[in-house]
Amino acid sequence: MNMNQLIEKQHIFFESGATRDLSFRKQQLKKLKSMLVNHQDELCKAVYSDLRKPAREVVSTELITIVDEINFHLKNLDSWSKPQNAAANLLTLPSKNEVRRVPFGVALIIGTWNYPVSQLILPVAGAISGGNCMVLKPSELAAATSSTLTRLIGDTFEPDYISIIEGGVEISQTLLDLPFNKIFFTGSSRVGKIVMGKAARQLIPVTLELGGKSPAIVHKDADIQSSAKRIMWGKCLNAGQICISPDFVLVHEERKDEFIEHAKSAVEELYGKNPKTSPDYGRIINQHHYQRVLKLLEGTHIITGGETDAGEKYIEPTIVDGVGWEHPVMQEEIFGPVLPVVTYSGDKEPASLLRYKPSPLALYIFSRDDSFIENTITQIPHGGTCINDVIMHIANPNIPFGGTGNSGIGQYHGKYSFEAFTRPHAVMRRKTWPDPSVRYPPYDSKISLLNKLFMK
Ligand code: NAD
Repeated sequence: MNMNQLIEKQHIFFESGATRDLSFRKQQLKKLKSMLVNHQDELCKAVYSDLRKPAREVVSTELITIVDEINFHLKNLDSWSKPQNAAANLLTLPSKNEVRRVPFGVALIIGTWNYPVSQLILPVAGAISGGNCMVLKPSELAAATSSTLTRLIGDTFEPDYISIIEGGVEISQTLLDLPFNKIFFTGSSRVGKIVMGKAARQLIPVTLELGGKSPAIVHKDADIQSSAKRIMWGKCLNAGQICISPDFVLVHEERKDEFIEHAKSAVEELYGKNPKTSPDYGRIINQHHYQRVLKLLEGTHIITGGETDAGEKYIEPTIVDGVGWEHPVMQEEIFGPVLPVVTYSGDKEPASLLRYKPSPLALYIFSRDDSFIENTITQIPHGGTCINDVIMHIANPNIPFGGTGNSGIGQYHGKYSFEAFTRPHAVMRRKTWPDPSVRYPPYDSKISLLNKLFMK
């Protein structure tokens, strides 16, 4: 079956109405959950082979997150999908109004390599809950996970409901020309623009989950020891290859030295004296990205770390300073275990330094000063905030996850995933009586009445 035929079959299946049935959707969510639970070892091995990511980390940051999300959907799907009553206004009295959430139809979900299971499968929970059919396109760079997921999805679901198509840029581009009803893309801002351009040609709605440079601001009143430990944990997780990794630290100048000392101790506490031998520390996905991160180190002052091994694609957790805002390490998303440290002095400086830069996906603020926190949050456009911690805000399905501007369009997780894969559909019911003549021509004598009623 070629790609065109596959999409056509999915459209036919969608039109059959089968996916609108809530019990069908719940049954599919349960199948997805069983697939993950029963095959966790295979998935962990695949991700290890792609990223040398330890099994414990795959379970805690990928599999548990998806299973938790699925359980949340199973618990809430009935209430999310209930039509909401809406009031009538003066113009539409008498009428009964409701807003339903209806599926888009056939969705395309494109994933990345850095969290190769969750970035592809997490949106699937929303697409199933929303009542869609879907085609998944995993990242070709995490090849072992891509082929494992292809086999598991193929064994679990009928292809005219959920299919997975492996491949790289060419396949992705071909898929983007097909008549989907929704595109959910996770990846870089550069490719996000290509995806949106392609979607625009067919007026297909998009959700774009992109990346960016998420700053960690460490204020003068912060608990430096815990800030440094949490920031280094976030920076080293998956060897820094996370869309919401703290990209750089903007620390109050009075606390910089203390921060660096605690950050060094934190790395040793988490990964030992030689992180290369730690079973908990990952590797860079491929030579291209390994070389890209090394290049970012050029012209920086390495405070700690800096050891590398091309054969293993290993980069030690590395803290650098001596970089201005124009240095490449402060311009592009680092996506690796390198942490530049820059300083500020006045309370208003972080906001004025960052507010006109491309909007990051996350903003981290370490402080106890509410007015500093509020001022910084409101002045810097960004996707989501986490105060006194990093990354944890994505683990709560009760709050949305997504970017703004350069970091993306739309949100997901929990109810927001259901909403990302459905649209609000208005239904108004009226009786044929009463039928006041005021809305019908001739209008002449009615204008003054309308003016009296509405133009005040
Ligand atoms: P990428 O944009 O290079 O690739 C993402 C997907 O797009 C892959 O499946 C790839 O095959 C496809 N693709 C690549 N080039 C394409 C093209 N020219 N036309 C059509 N499709 C194309 O991203 P990546 O390197 O896989 O992932 C890293 C980026 O993703 C980082 O910027 C990171 O911040 C971001 N990211 C965001 C999230 C999020 O949830 N917001 C999560 C993970 C990663």
